[in-house]
Amino acid sequence: MRHNFGAGPCILPQEVFRQASQAVLDFKDGLSILEISHRTPEFEAVLAEAVKLVKELLNVPEGYSVLFLQGGASLQFAMVPMNLLSEGQTASYLETGVWANKAIKEVKNFGAANVVASSKDANFNYIPKDYSIPADSTYFHCTSNNTIYGTEMFSLPDTKVPVVCDMSSDIMSRVIDVSKYDLIYAGAQKNIGPAGSTLVIVKDEILGKTTNKIPSMLDYKVHIEGGSMYNTPPVFAIYVAMLNLRWLKSKGGVAEIEKENNAKAHALYAEIDRNPLFKGTAAVEDRSRMNICFVMENPELEKPFLKFAEENDIEGLKGHRSVGGFRASIYNALPITSVHRLVELMQVFAEKHQK
Ligand code: PLP
Repeated sequence: MRHNFGAGPCILPQEVFRQASQAVLDFKDGLSILEISHRTPEFEAVLAEAVKLVKELLNVPEGYSVLFLQGGASLQFAMVPMNLLSEGQTASYLETGVWANKAIKEVKNFGAANVVASSKDANFNYIPKDYSIPADSTYFHCTSNNTIYGTEMFSLPDTKVPVVCDMSSDIMSRVIDVSKYDLIYAGAQKNIGPAGSTLVIVKDEILGKTTNKIPSMLDYKVHIEGGSMYNTPPVFAIYVAMLNLRWLKSKGGVAEIEKENNAKAHALYAEIDRNPLFKGTAAVEDRSRMNICFVMENPELEKPFLKFAEENDIEGLKGHRSVGGFRASIYNALPITSVHRLVELMQVFAEKHQK
């Protein structure tokens, strides 16, 4: 068995892949999920179940709409200010990595971005905590998990300003209080489903206030009115997301997977801290439970360790080029046995190479 520690896209349980491939061949009466009309009651039921599962799993309160859109989280970087910000207004952003930075870049087309704090000074290896959000900000934007640098935000600043959060790489991995957010978005491809759909959870009352002229495809209200079917939705991506959300529910939901995710992260960080060959790169209190970044005390051993890991069925461990070393992505679908295997290999390698 290969153990896939890759950062994505789309690490899902084997049983979800199996069900999805069966539906490509025969979803209903010998027809593929790819060929039936998205306007059939069968597909409408798929979309309705996907939305219902999101609401159930995240305990989404009344007054929020759940959308499956396209364009990835990257389109949300622009859709958020386009729908929420008007000329002359300012939105506050927390700069915790490349993705936050890309979101900041999009704001200037609609208003101004005020960067309240940044961890750029230390290659984004921590989450800034000492900052304040001006009360006249139209919204505050943050990234809950920084996929590249392995940092995660475990608490929100105390603010009355509406909160917008990019949760692409930790949504559905831990219990969140949706009522604290006004807009949540996430590219589906980590814990939700295949690349090709983007989840948006938006508080209805924050919409319709901008003076911007918004093209229909980029207007949240149009998608809400169209029930995520203003145009042809990414049917397969939504179908597989629905299957995966069913799987998550069958596992006991987000609270149960959170326990497993914590156990997986704890096991790997404990080895990184214990084993003299390795060291973590993120500030300890901000360590991500989804993307674990680490390097070797002796960089010359990194290539041999990667080779050793790959020869022993470990996939996707190479770190992102901007951090180097290793990144073990341990999304919901990765079993704890895979983490145990990696830990064992780190120990075997250390025995061989420790002087
Ligand atoms: N935000 C975060 C936190 C991400 O990890 C990613 C991609 O990995 C993105 C945004 C960009 O997502 P997409 O490729 O769906 O546009």
